[in-house]
Order: sequence, then structure tokens, then C-alpha cells
Amino acid sequence: MPGMLFCRYGPEGFHAAGDALEAMRVLHSDPFSTPVSQWRFGREIDLAREAIRAPVEPGKIVGIGRNYAEHARELDHPVPEEPVLFLKSPGSVIGPRAPIVLPPESQRVEHEGEIAVVLGARLRRAPAADAARAVLGVTAACDVTARDLQRRDPTFARAKSFDTFCPLGPAVLVEPDLEELAVVTRVNGEERQRGHVSQMLWGIAELLAYASRMMTLEPGDVVLTGTPAGVGPLADGDRLEVEVEGVGVLVNPVEAWRQE
Ligand code: MG
Repeated sequence: MPGMLFCRYGPEGFHAAGDALEAMRVLHSDPFSTPVSQWRFGREIDLAREAIRAPVEPGKIVGIGRNYAEHARELDHPVPEEPVLFLKSPGSVIGPRAPIVLPPESQRVEHEGEIAVVLGARLRRAPAADAARAVLGVTAACDVTARDLQRRDPTFARAKSFDTFCPLGPAVLVEPDLEELAVVTRVNGEERQRGHVSQMLWGIAELLAYASRMMTLEPGDVVLTGTPAGVGPLADGDRLEVEVEGVGVLVNPVEAWRQE
């Protein structure tokens, strides 16, 4: 059975939901406070004709570095002994179809296709079993990274947080099976990355439990669960796709920054 999806559209950011992106209806319920079995639906929405937005507006975005051993190796980093935690600016979020803008400060911007977890409940110093229950759903993300600045700077703050560096969407898959998620990244139609949660050093529930020891996770917060091997550069004119099975394909064009 396909899972239930929700997204946001239009200038107001209304919610729409359905079991396929081609069959969405206006959602008259708040997906954060109403169980999916009690959602109430309105008229059909043709998303092809609507401005589709990022499905959530996170208060914070927690990133996890080097959560796939193959990716740590390709960057010449040792496999970490505990999860590598960083923060990405909430202002870097963009929705599907919006351009990723390459800033003039970097000569090497790379894609990191990832599974993004959306919190549905507050989580603080929680055990992994409680953490899994606090997941509202998952979506696709690109943890866009200025690799040259990441290598040069003592922290990840600048390299990870330029405007447009966090595409999210197109929808949130609710009640996902956290042990059966896969992510594929393509640039101009060519596959660059492929990963499955079974290849992660720490699983989703463990990552949430770990992060919740440092900072309280709130509903709507997003945790980026790390990228599989195969990261590579993005160039002006590229078309980036990140697909999470059951979620759909997040598509964003890539543009060089131009003086406004
Ligand atoms: Mg990443």
C-alpha cells in the first residue's frame, strides 16, 4: 500500500495530501497535530499548475556528516566514532523547482543527496525507541556543500548554509518504514549517488536520539541523515534530482550567482 504524502503549495503554503503526487487534495487538517487516519480532505489540486514549496519550514536543520562509511573514505576522512553533528541555516531551505544558486565565494559546490527526517513531536534526551515514534515522516533533501570552504574553514557553518543550499521536497511521506528507505541522486539524468538506510553507520532512530541529547528537537525540525558515496560538483545549468523511494523526485535547477 502506498504511504500518505503531504506537501505545501501556493503563496500561502496551504497543505495538500494524497497517496500520489498526481492525486493530491487540499488538506483541511494540520499534519502535525492530527493523526493521518483523521485527516480531512477538500478539492483536488493539480500540483503541475501550482507553485510547490518546501513541505516544512524547519526551526532548525541538524546535519549528520559521514554517516556512510564509503562517503567518509571518498573524502579521506576516518570513519567517525560517534555521529558528526552540524547545523545548517533554516534560511537555506528552498522548495522543488527553485534554483540552487552557486555563490561567487566558492569554486567547488557539491551535491549531497540525503534522506531528510521531519520531526512530528518534541524530543529531548530520548531513547531510540521514543525517537522513532517522534518521526512525522521523511522527504528528500540535498545538503548542498561548498566543499572548498568546508575544507578551509574550522567549522561547517559557511560551507553548508549559503542561501538555497537546502532543497527539500517534494512531499513528506508519513509513517515511513525507517528500515527500508533508499535515496538516489542524479545530475542531468545521470545517476551519481545511491544509498540505503541499511548502509548507514547510525540508523535514523539512533541519530535522533543522539541529536536530542545536545538540543531539544521540535516539531517541524529536520534532520539530514548523511550522504552516500558519489558526491560531485554542480555547475551552472545543471539539473539536480534527489529521489527518495515513496516520496517522489525533488528537482532543482542550478544557476551561477548573478548581480541583481
Ligand atoms: Mg551531508
